[in-house]
Amino acid sequence: MQIDDKNKQESLDVAEDSRETEWQSPSFVAELFSGRFIWEHVHPFPLQSAEDRQIGDTYIEKLRGVLEKHIDPSEVDRTADLPQSAIAALAEAGVWGMKIPKEYGGLGFSQTNYSRVCAFISSYCASTSAWVTAHQSIGVPQPLKIFGTKAQKEKYLPRLAKGAISAFGLTEPGVGSDPAKMSTTATPTEDGKHYILNGQKLWITNGPVAEIMIVMARTPSIMVKGKERKQISAFIVETDTPGFDVVHRCDFLGIRGIQNGLLNFENVKVPAENIIGKPGDGLKIALITLNTGRLSIPAAAGAGGKAALLHGAKWCNEREQWGAPIGKHQNTAVRLARIASSTLAMEAVAWLGCSMADQGGMDIRIEAAMAKYFTTVNGCMIADDFLQIRGGRGYETAESLAKRGEEPIPAERNLRDARISRIVEGTDEIMHLFIAREAMDLHVRQIMPLMTPGGSKAGHFFKSFLPFYAAWLPKQFLPATGNYATKHLNGANQAHLPQIAKASKRLARTMFFTMAKYQQKLEREQVIMSNFVDIGTDLFAMAATLAYTEALLPAAADKEALQDLCDLFCTEARERIAANFKAVKKNHNHKFDKVSRHALAGKYGWFCDGIYTDVPPGLQKLMNQSIDAFAAKQSAAKTQRPAEAAYETVAK
Ligand SMILES: Cc1cc2nc3c(=O)[nH]c(=O)nc-3n(C[C@H](O)[C@H](O)[C@H](O)COP(=O)(O)OP(=O)(O)OC[C@H]3O[C@@H](n4cnc5c(N)ncnc54)[C@H](O)[C@@H]3O)c2cc1C
Repeated sequence: MQIDDKNKQESLDVAEDSRETEWQSPSFVAELFSGRFIWEHVHPFPLQSAEDRQIGDTYIEKLRGVLEKHIDPSEVDRTADLPQSAIAALAEAGVWGMKIPKEYGGLGFSQTNYSRVCAFISSYCASTSAWVTAHQSIGVPQPLKIFGTKAQKEKYLPRLAKGAISAFGLTEPGVGSDPAKMSTTATPTEDGKHYILNGQKLWITNGPVAEIMIVMARTPSIMVKGKERKQISAFIVETDTPGFDVVHRCDFLGIRGIQNGLLNFENVKVPAENIIGKPGDGLKIALITLNTGRLSIPAAAGAGGKAALLHGAKWCNEREQWGAPIGKHQNTAVRLARIASSTLAMEAVAWLGCSMADQGGMDIRIEAAMAKYFTTVNGCMIADDFLQIRGGRGYETAESLAKRGEEPIPAERNLRDARISRIVEGTDEIMHLFIAREAMDLHVRQIMPLMTPGGSKAGHFFKSFLPFYAAWLPKQFLPATGNYATKHLNGANQAHLPQIAKASKRLARTMFFTMAKYQQKLEREQVIMSNFVDIGTDLFAMAATLAYTEALLPAAADKEALQDLCDLFCTEARERIAANFKAVKKNHNHKFDKVSRHALAGKYGWFCDGIYTDVPPGLQKLMNQSIDAFAAKQSAAKTQRPAEAAYETVAK
């Protein structure tokens, strides 16, 4: 199947329209991509203040009792149910309003404390944590806090703080990573007082139980400079409105206690004042919501790493095979050491992102995306390594272990629960695209005016493009200089700092020459772009880890052990960086292209014999029943929908 260029361009245009175009504040990582390692942006590491820390500590201690009393994580997983009594107890403890300002009845937590609590809940029961974050990281409170009118905040935030569960509805059966193809519509009524919503939303966490939802829907397109511009708008929807229906509750590999479903909107009448921001701003609102929304995920991933480290070290000592504790066998020792060093780095990027969000003054869109990508990939590797260290016990459920009197460590559940984090709130691949676009913004700004019709190209070339690159490019070949002052880091760790500066310049100039080589075709070289993103991510993680280690050292119980952890992570990161630079220069990506083209063309079907490929009869029956039921419902509904003509463009 060929790429449909027109469709693809439309998706790219929608994504571009929804970008935050301005960089109002400095970005540490954007500077790294442009060849400038500004150590002062992350050093001294912005540790949480003692006062704020105390608030978090007290709350977490209080919550421990609530969780232990009302939630049995194994039971939640087995029964795929978080009991109503638990939801009420969490409400009583104020969990649903942690991020809502005090003036609206919430707890007014900082991003750091909110993330600490989510990480703590996640280390107890990941399903419960998903309920909380779907409500507060991306659900109604977050976009309302940033974009809501005073009236909307006064109407909804107190209710949400008390425990009215909310959800975030973007995904549809046909629309995952590419919202440009959204088919849910919101048609304005003739008097302009309402919008009528029609469509379906899929996999909406909390959706089946939510009282209030954010729903993204298409409003009529507008014409800008003779070109149709699709409009996606964000609506607050009360789920008791007639026409809202939960079609199906979905069931998953992990986080089995969540309520997540396929939702139907059939002529759902929403007051016009429930639009968040301006019509057409919906996707931008969703993306900005996700910028900070993503920050609780890294903290939870770090918590998973800590649990794996504690239990892993214990098991590596206790379990003896082949005449020695398994932790003394080098291949297992490597797993344990990687769990430890990755966990330090995950913590560093998680808390750096949260502190940056709390303190303001920095643009953290790339840092948040990198933190999400870096910690979830590492979190899944750690969960897998930990299961491997536990051997057969890793594959056995905690309940089964408990029933035969062994320590019930839920390694298999942790692995199942962790995996979703690489899919939701931006898949690994979409994070790569997002980070790459933002990382290249410096160059896109110089190049775009030369490629866009209209305007004086010669004027731009001589007044902006040429002077910019004449000054910028030579700098990328000069030796890196900078003040990388540290008080506590040992020699091995100090030696990593100038390497970040050096690699940052190499990254900037390599990206420049790669762009010059591929020009518009670069967009199709996703693997090379990913190499660049991975280099930038490792540089970010190294800087964060070195600064974090420096901050932790004065109070560390064993300073040498901490320095070794940091050094191992940075040494490994530098090896990955070198491998990624090498892969940009010399690779066999064209062989992947070739083989995947063959696979897409069905050329390998002939050797995939000898396996069962039919749908088993039981599942076939279920599928047929649901297809019939959907078809009947759809045809009945279609007759009642507003005319398609409502979506013809209206000239602006
Ligand atoms: C448990 C769970 C909870 C969820 N909760 C919510 C929620 O609360 N609200 C909500 O709105 N949604 C939610 N989702 C949906 C989730 O956000 C989507 O699954 C996710 O955005 C990916 O979309 P998709 O599954 O359709 O994958 P697709 O977009 O179809 O992608 C499939 C694969 O192709 C890759 N791919 C796609 N485009 C590109 C590209 N341009 N370049 C390279 N690779 C590409 C993807 O990375 C992925 O690996 C949830 C999903 C699950 C499973």
